[in-house]
Amino acid sequence: MAERVLVGSGVGNGVGVGPVFRVVDRSQRELSSAIGSRHNLTAIRGAVEVVADEIEQASGRAEVDAVMGALGMMLRDPSLVEQIKSRLADGVSADRAIRGAFAQFARSLASLGGYFAERSDDLVALAEKVIDTLVGVDEVELPTTPYVLVTDTLSPMVASKLDPAVVLAVITRTGTATSHTGIVLRSVKIPSVVGVSAIGLLTDGIDVLVDASSGQIFVEPSAEELENYARAEVFEDEVLPPIQPGELPVTVLANLGSSAEAEAAHRVGAEGVGLFRTELLFLGRQDPPTLDEQVLEYTRLLSFFEGQRVIVRVLDTDTDKPLPFLFFAGSGKYANRGFQVLLANHSILDTQLEALSIAQNNVPNSNLWVMAPMVITAAEANEFARSAKLHGIRNIGIMVEVPELVDALDDALEQIDFLSIGTNDLSQYTLGKNRHGVASDISDARDPKVLAVIERVLSIANARGIPVGVCGEAAADHESAKLFVEMGVDSLSASPALIPALRETLKQ
Ligand code: PEP
Ligand code: MG
Repeated sequence: MAERVLVGSGVGNGVGVGPVFRVVDRSQRELSSAIGSRHNLTAIRGAVEVVADEIEQASGRAEVDAVMGALGMMLRDPSLVEQIKSRLADGVSADRAIRGAFAQFARSLASLGGYFAERSDDLVALAEKVIDTLVGVDEVELPTTPYVLVTDTLSPMVASKLDPAVVLAVITRTGTATSHTGIVLRSVKIPSVVGVSAIGLLTDGIDVLVDASSGQIFVEPSAEELENYARAEVFEDEVLPPIQPGELPVTVLANLGSSAEAEAAHRVGAEGVGLFRTELLFLGRQDPPTLDEQVLEYTRLLSFFEGQRVIVRVLDTDTDKPLPFLFFAGSGKYANRGFQVLLANHSILDTQLEALSIAQNNVPNSNLWVMAPMVITAAEANEFARSAKLHGIRNIGIMVEVPELVDALDDALEQIDFLSIGTNDLSQYTLGKNRHGVASDISDARDPKVLAVIERVLSIANARGIPVGVCGEAAADHESAKLFVEMGVDSLSASPALIPALRETLKQ
């Protein structure tokens, strides 16, 4: 399997594979504004105007023009330069005056909510563009051979000039899928993942697979992962009708990392969401997301899938994505992984369950299922069920990702409505391999030892009439998928990009 998988918000529905080209982060530059400095108010005002002119002259598709028009208007708002002026008068450096004024402008837009709130990220990128213009930095020289662009910020203007024949994919640290940059990237049809807090791990020249449909970035993907996605390529521009009841032997659902990817799931006719990873809400932050932030995201997600099953997984921490606001939990090979971490941080679990419950009630025809990751013992399963019920969650499930759970499964199912097998972790822990790196791969899920575990899970669950799905990468591996169906799983859940080929396979 890939060395690691990073997550962000997917923009568009395509997939891009190639070597990283990392644009150096210039957001820490300092510019003096001391008396006599050339970075004075007149020069800054001039730079803002140059950027506004450039934006307004950038033409392209209609939706890009609309974006540029709106940004130009923001830049020409006199209160922006007034803000810069008052900061300079307070004696702050030119770079901080510009960034501060743009950030304040962004905050006031954010407070307006809706359309304006979604534009606020674009202003952060534009502040850097104004600083570039002020100091006369040319736009970064980009390679002429195909590459994946990795950058902290990307202004809509630069995005509109990217050549999709050379830029295979884009990854940014800041930004949202609905920002202007997101709209432009979608329109120029470059598969992108934005809001990736861990881009520091992406160094020049390493290979990545960018799956915009699920918001995932596979760092140094394995041959099996590349092969799986190569099969998906032929379907990239197709829009498929919704899967009809009885069309396939099992329910086929989508794996998503943010509500931005709902459209990609609809394009391939998915029957709902089989794994909504909630990590993106928590990553790259000093404090956990608020109840309101979470309600917004879950309500958005559920409204995209009214009447369809949506399985949300509560926070799954991993040792390679530490979160500063969580207490450590556990020991041995499961140290600081899985549901035990949430139990040691119960208020975080409670806030998340409460937000899910509010969202479930916000969307009249919602069909929300909620599951806990990496449950190890029956006691953990029971505690999850108790907490989820207390918050009014109606469909409660657990993931089977560690072999130890299987011995305790009968007791663990007392209060549980459904199971989901995470083959990525289950294969690794059953075979004693390392999930990240060459030591493990998708086909490990077909190892007799892993299949024996899955067989036992199915027999225990079937005896209780509890549905079992598979949502690891193996669910979209054709050989494994067929095997799982034969064994009696109820659903398979995969990245939207991989669903068209999976549909074909399951029909045969
Ligand atoms: C899995 O382990 O198979 C799974 C789906 O969870 P994740 O990949 O998010 O750990
Ligand atoms: Mg897992």
